[in-house]
Amino acid sequence: MTVPPSGRVVIAGTGIAGATAAETLRKRGFDGEVVLLGADPAPPYRRPMVSKELLAAAFPAEKALLRPPAAWPELRIDLRTGTRIEALDPSASRVALAGGTALGYDALLLATGGRPRSLGVPIPGAVTLRDRHDATALRDVLARPGIEVLVVGGGLIGTEVAASARAGGAAVTILEAGPRILDRVFPQPVSAALEQLHRAHGVAVQTGTAVTEADEISGRTRLRSADGREWIADVVVVAVGMTPDDELARAAGLRVDDGIVVDEFCATSAPGIYAAGDVARFPDPVHGGSVRVEHWNHAQSHGAAAAAAIVGERSPYREVPWCWTAQYGRTVQAAGRPTAGAELILDGDPAGDAFLALALTGDRLVGAVAAGRPRDLRAARTLIGSGAGLPRHLLDGSIDLVALAV
Ligand code: NAD
Repeated sequence: MTVPPSGRVVIAGTGIAGATAAETLRKRGFDGEVVLLGADPAPPYRRPMVSKELLAAAFPAEKALLRPPAAWPELRIDLRTGTRIEALDPSASRVALAGGTALGYDALLLATGGRPRSLGVPIPGAVTLRDRHDATALRDVLARPGIEVLVVGGGLIGTEVAASARAGGAAVTILEAGPRILDRVFPQPVSAALEQLHRAHGVAVQTGTAVTEADEISGRTRLRSADGREWIADVVVVAVGMTPDDELARAAGLRVDDGIVVDEFCATSAPGIYAAGDVARFPDPVHGGSVRVEHWNHAQSHGAAAAAAIVGERSPYREVPWCWTAQYGRTVQAAGRPTAGAELILDGDPAGDAFLALALTGDRLVGAVAAGRPRDLRAARTLIGSGAGLPRHLLDGSIDLVALAV
């Protein structure tokens, strides 16, 4: 679908997918109305900072803003924060906003992201981390002297929170159900090295630990695991994954399958409605099948792709996803699917400041992880995307992916 030049595009979600889509519409010359609305009361900000910089006492929240507030009206983007869509009527091309207002659209982009997955065990006073408000609240708690923190889930949020809390002097324990922290994101040698890094910074890491019970004891929270162990802390942070916010689409009869199903042009099963970012399940150009990706960079490029599709460009989405985490001053980047390979080739020590780990299936690169080697990581994305076979003899010893990718 192409929107009429003076038409209205409504974007649901002020995260990076929605905000980038709004800006991209203008960059691509769309001159009509752009309404960017989201439940979050804050103007668009850098969500990766929620589990890192925004937890530090001295970090000013304005530094997390994606654009200065004046940039949105300058771009003629009608930014409506704190505005929730209550319902979607595809047959009338209309959304219903909280308070009873209806808003028609020529194209609608659903970039609603997700929310923290529930642990399934009620935990008194548990904290989850999704938005800037959550980060500010947790930051104030972490600032209390002598605070003890339990982090349930040793994934990206859990480990980043643990590192931020340690930097502020809190005592931290991570309770991870799986055999390793960061198991979903990094291959074993890399996650083992990061686990060591956490221990070296004084974090107690308990893997293979599923919380089954919780209660309050003298104003603190007590957690118990299935095998009877227990921990008591001042605050419990639950970070056990995310659930896509696809309810609007589901209720409106769009195709949903752990996320809103879209094609390679970000189009949903309903005409004129698109989805992008964490909430969208799209065709995986590298591995086949479909995939949902929950990383900032993907949401950014997927939002841009949706905007391009809305203005009528037919360019299938083929980005290889990548992400980064920063913990104790070490930045680790990952591309593709580093845990999916049949074989892992290491160049350098994953416990050091510079290494490259390549995940291969046969002679094909399917994923990569690196620290201190951003150019190799960029080259890895090109090679993963091209699907080209890598010559074996060039993967022994010191690997130069940049040369291989040209
Ligand atoms: P995650 O999937 O990264 O990690 C969840 C962790 O919780 C996993 O290690 C899992 O094994 C563990 N877990 C699951 N059930 C558990 C249980 N009952 N008890 C204990 N542990 C349990 O999810 P997250 O850390 O919650 O992050 C949410 C989303 O935000 C993810 O999509 C993540 O990719 C994204 N995020 C990304 C970054 C980044 O790219 N640097 C940073 C923060 C968040």
